[in-house]
Amino acid sequence: MKITANNTNRKSWLEVEKTSDFPIQNIPFGVFITKDDIITIGTRIGDFAIDLGALHQLGYFEGIPLTDDIFLQDTLNDFIADGRKTWRLVRNRIADIFDATKSGLRDNKAHQSEVIFRMEDVEMQLPVSVGDYTDFYASKEHATNVGSLFRDPENAIMPNWLHVPIGYHGRSSSIVPSGTPVRRPLGQSKPLEGEKQPQFGASRLLDFELEMAFITTAVNNLGERIPIEETEENIFGLVLFNDWSARDIQGWEYQPLGPFLGKSFASTISPWIVTLDALEGFRVDNPTQDPTPLPYLQIDGKRSYDIKLQVGIQPENGEETVVANSNFKYMYWTMVQQLAHHTVNGCPVNAGDMMGSGTISGPTKDSYGSMLELTWRGQNPLTLNDGSTRKFINDHDTVIMRAHCENDDVRIGFGECTGKVLPAN
Ligand code: MN
Repeated sequence: MKITANNTNRKSWLEVEKTSDFPIQNIPFGVFITKDDIITIGTRIGDFAIDLGALHQLGYFEGIPLTDDIFLQDTLNDFIADGRKTWRLVRNRIADIFDATKSGLRDNKAHQSEVIFRMEDVEMQLPVSVGDYTDFYASKEHATNVGSLFRDPENAIMPNWLHVPIGYHGRSSSIVPSGTPVRRPLGQSKPLEGEKQPQFGASRLLDFELEMAFITTAVNNLGERIPIEETEENIFGLVLFNDWSARDIQGWEYQPLGPFLGKSFASTISPWIVTLDALEGFRVDNPTQDPTPLPYLQIDGKRSYDIKLQVGIQPENGEETVVANSNFKYMYWTMVQQLAHHTVNGCPVNAGDMMGSGTISGPTKDSYGSMLELTWRGQNPLTLNDGSTRKFINDHDTVIMRAHCENDDVRIGFGECTGKVLPAN
C-alpha cells in the first residue's frame, strides 16, 4: 500500500511553521489529556494536538476497519496490535483530512472545535503501556569508549560484540514521558581505596544516554522465530530515549550479569511515536559490518536512518548549552537485526514492547552520547555557556534531547525529550 501521507507536496490547512518537527507529513501518534480531563489517542500537526477518538466518533475514519473504541484508550497498544496495514490506512486518512485542498473538516468549524486543541492546552502521557523494555548496546564507538573506560583500551570491544547485538532486559516500570522530573538515585558504589565496605549514598556520577527506542507490534509466538526480512513490518515507530545512568552504581554492580540499579531508576521518552513509515525518505546505507554477521542477521537494502540527534544541558534558571550532536545512522547494529536477534530463541515480543538502541555515539568527540564519554569519565570537564563546568549531571540540571530528519523537501522531527534532575531523597 502506498504511503500517501508522506507526499511532500501536501500542505495542511492548519498553520505549521517551517521549522516545525510536525508538518502534515509526520503524523506521529501519542496519548494526551485535555483540560476537561479527557484522555485520548491523538496526533500532532504543527502546534495542534488532534483528538483521534473524536475524529473517529464523527465518522472521519469510515471505511477503515477499526473498533469503535480503538482511539478512546489511554495507550496505543491495541492500535499498534492492529498491524502495519491499519497504521498506513489511518495515517493516509489523517493526511487527507488535514490536506489544504480537501474540504470536510476544513470547512466544519463545529467539528474542528471538538477535535483540535492547542499543544499548550494538553498534557502528554506515555504513549504505550510498555510490557517489556530491552536496551541494546549497538554503537561501536560507544562500546569502544565504554570498554576503554571501564576495562582496558587494548580490549575495549569484547570478542562477542561483533557477532551478537548485545542487550539486556531493563525495567519498564520507570519509563516516563518527557518533562517528568528524575530523582537522583541512591545506591552502592565500589569501596574507596583501602576500605573494605562499599560506599552507599546518592549517586555522584549521574549521566544521560542519548538513545532512540523502537516500539513493536506483536512479533512472534512463544517458540517461534521470525526471519529478518519480516522484522521491519513489526516496527511501529520510534521515540527519543534518555537512558539515565548512574555510573558509580553501574561500575560496581555490572559484573557478571550486566546493568541493574544503575539504570533502572528512570528512562525518559519523547511522547510522540514517529512511525517508521514517516521516516521512509530518510533511509541511508547500512554500516559496513566486518566480520559478516551470521546468516540470520544478514541484511540487504537500506536499514539505517539519517536522524540528527542533539543533547543540551540547562542549569536551573540558566541558558541551555548544546553538549553533543550525533546521528542515528552511526548505529552498527540496525533495528531489524536487533529484532531478528531478539526473537531468534523463540522469546515472544509483544505489541508495545520498547527496544532502546543503546547510546548513540559518533566518531568525533563532540558526537558522544553520554557525559562518561564527553568528559572521559570526568577527566575533561565541559564548560557550559554560564561558565560553570560539568563532569556529570548536577542536581537541578535539565537534560534536553532532540531528534529530526531533514532534506530539501521536508523535516520530520520527534520534538523534545527532557528531564530535570532532583536531589536524592
Ligand atoms: Mn543504555
